[in-house]
Amino acid sequence: MLSKLFLILFSLFFLVLSVNAQNETSIEIRKVVIDAGHGGRDPGAVSANGKVFEKDITLSVALLLGNMIKLNYPYVDVIYTRDSDVFVRLDKRSEIANKSKADLFISIHVNAAKSRVASGSETFVMGADKTNSNLEVTMLENSVILLEGEDYKSRYEGFNPNDPESYIIFSLLQNAHIEQSLTLASLIQQQLGQGPIRINRGIKQAPLVVLWRTSMPSVLVELGFISNINDLKIMSEKRNQEKFANLIFNAFVQYKNKYDKNYSNAIDNNLRNNNETIKSSIVDSSNNIVSNPQHNKSQTTHYRIQILSVNKEISTKSREFKGHRDINHIKQGNTYKYTLGQYNSIEEARVNLREIRKTFPQAFIIKVENNKIVPL
Ligand SMILES: [Zn+2]
Repeated sequence: MLSKLFLILFSLFFLVLSVNAQNETSIEIRKVVIDAGHGGRDPGAVSANGKVFEKDITLSVALLLGNMIKLNYPYVDVIYTRDSDVFVRLDKRSEIANKSKADLFISIHVNAAKSRVASGSETFVMGADKTNSNLEVTMLENSVILLEGEDYKSRYEGFNPNDPESYIIFSLLQNAHIEQSLTLASLIQQQLGQGPIRINRGIKQAPLVVLWRTSMPSVLVELGFISNINDLKIMSEKRNQEKFANLIFNAFVQYKNKYDKNYSNAIDNNLRNNNETIKSSIVDSSNNIVSNPQHNKSQTTHYRIQILSVNKEISTKSREFKGHRDINHIKQGNTYKYTLGQYNSIEEARVNLREIRKTFPQAFIIKVENNKIVPL
């Protein structure tokens, strides 16, 4: 009896250990595939007047999102499944992600429905849709396959996008990355709910071919409905496309902060600034004015919180800063790094960072000496 109890306790101990190990899993996020839905001869959903194509909105938002990631995380590889108006097969899109061993796959789309009142954003992760409640969008997004030519059946294991029976195979599928995919989907929906189209239709599971074939956490975002007159107007404007990209970027940052523990923002910044410090110290040595650098250092070393990095100067009253007043910037090369606060210790900066990240999720701590950013 006692030995039985011991055995139970023993296995419980290992169960707890393995759960803990899972929770602490840190995934590196070094490669992101951004997939602009449709393209070329496949316009995707089209507005009622025939003038606005899904493929153009998705490409614009995808490129803007990619630029934001590249600018803020120079070491993260951004790979596009297309960066121009060309047709790319669904299996090719997931193949690009799989072959490059990407850590994340974000597919951007625009919705359409027969009902003109349907409005809002939704984010899909791969999964069986047992109630068929998402069948309309599923068939719409998967029907691209029919444009790929007659041999599509051999490429997709006999799958016919227009035959509901075909979808049965998906109910048997296990999704190895479901937890991370759901996390990202949820962060994206939280962000999009604050955006130009505020109706949040939530996270959904559907057997979308482009997600089925990817072997990493992957989501498919439907920004809004081209069939709805208000959504259409909003999505057609460039400034709103920038907002959509920015909101998805915020979700990416939150996701990265959650999972990529090895490469926290502070370390990112450290890596980046190492190179920049080397460059600036070469310039400084030619006009060597500072007689006692050690003394000087103690007077001017402090910490700030960087909230934005852009390649042009912007007014501190800009809406980008969401009403904050103590905005400063440091120019490094062609980049303007906008910061909040000035703290004597890193601990003090950390306390404030928690609060500031509620408004600027991408914020991180930097160390400043003589108005230059130095490694932490
Ligand atoms: Zn689409």
